[in-house]
Amino acid sequence: MIYRARTVLTLDGAPIENGAVGVEAGRVVDVGRDEEVRARRSGPVTDLGEVVLLPGLINAHCHLDFTALHGRIPPQHSFADWILQINGLRRDLSDEDYLASIAAGFVEARRWGTTTIATVESMPALLDRMPAPPLRTWWFAELIDVRPRLPAAEMLDDAFARFRGKEMWPGGFGLSPHAPYTVSPGLMRLAREAAERNGNLLMVHLAESAEEMEMFRDGRGRLFELLQSLGRSMADCGQGKTPLAVMLEREVLDERWTVVHLNELTEEDFTRLERGPRFHIAHCPRSSRYFRHSPFALRRLAGLGFNIALGTDSLASNSSLSLFSEMQTLRDAHPEIAPERILEMATINPARALHQADSLGKIRVGFQADLIALPIENPRGDVVEKVIAWEKPVPWVLLAGAPFPLG
Ligand SMILES: [Zn+2]
Repeated sequence: MIYRARTVLTLDGAPIENGAVGVEAGRVVDVGRDEEVRARRSGPVTDLGEVVLLPGLINAHCHLDFTALHGRIPPQHSFADWILQINGLRRDLSDEDYLASIAAGFVEARRWGTTTIATVESMPALLDRMPAPPLRTWWFAELIDVRPRLPAAEMLDDAFARFRGKEMWPGGFGLSPHAPYTVSPGLMRLAREAAERNGNLLMVHLAESAEEMEMFRDGRGRLFELLQSLGRSMADCGQGKTPLAVMLEREVLDERWTVVHLNELTEEDFTRLERGPRFHIAHCPRSSRYFRHSPFALRRLAGLGFNIALGTDSLASNSSLSLFSEMQTLRDAHPEIAPERILEMATINPARALHQADSLGKIRVGFQADLIALPIENPRGDVVEKVIAWEKPVPWVLLAGAPFPLG
């Protein structure tokens, strides 16, 4: 099949006017100007018309479990209060509610042109009760041991047991030790070792809120009190160490990890980051705004060479799973950043974070045929700006070479 489009935005060189993409067996087999591609290949041609054709978007961080909590928690003054609120709402959700929530999350992600998603699964046992996901999905099994029901090793065995038999699912599996305030150093280390042994990726929330900073550095505050009341050992708090310093001391981070948030960083933290390990960073612009976290240090972190990708976080702290809206929020907060860099944060950069830089995030021969088409009229030099500004459901999505109609 050959798809012809007014503009093909490959993210692998300049936009191609009157371009075409050849697709075979789920992969891109040709890309170029329409007449060149047709001269090289035979096969049916679908003319998509006055559209911009680009790679499907990739969500670097979300929690599909909480899609059903959309609009249920108004912004709180305290991050700890938000945790209490969501934990209260979660108590009323059955397994069926979670499964419906995840399914609704896929529909919502597809609606906004997302073809790949990295989601934290708080109840990995649910994986045995669902069909293969409709989008390319990396499932990160969440690990927490503030009040563990199982020993750490059993927790890990259980997660890996849920991954088994699902090797054909599009995407992959990883582990998400939730955060340094909910995961002990021992469990963090075991997770890292198991992931290394089995070739999995890792994801952790870090330096998200001012209360997390207060808890670790000063040994006080609402989050400190909450976790102390739950029985967490608070021995690593109140010694002047920032969340980043505490995490780096655990000596687990490397390029397998996506570190989510990093909103709250001190000057010393930037010095630590200069010489520390290179992990990937997921930034969730609208979730950060909802919580009123400190502004994300995009330019400084990018200047240090970190790969930064965009995520939506969950609908418990966001209004949609649209990465277009995340790009727009980022653009408004950082008007100095080139639009091309912003679009890369929802395509190429999350592909790198998922270790898929050779198969996702660009339109290139050999890459997965995950494509979206946006009916944008007359793009001139501002095609990327217009893509970022897109506000409607995405009418045309191709996933692994197969059309995926709007639900
Ligand atoms: Zn999150």
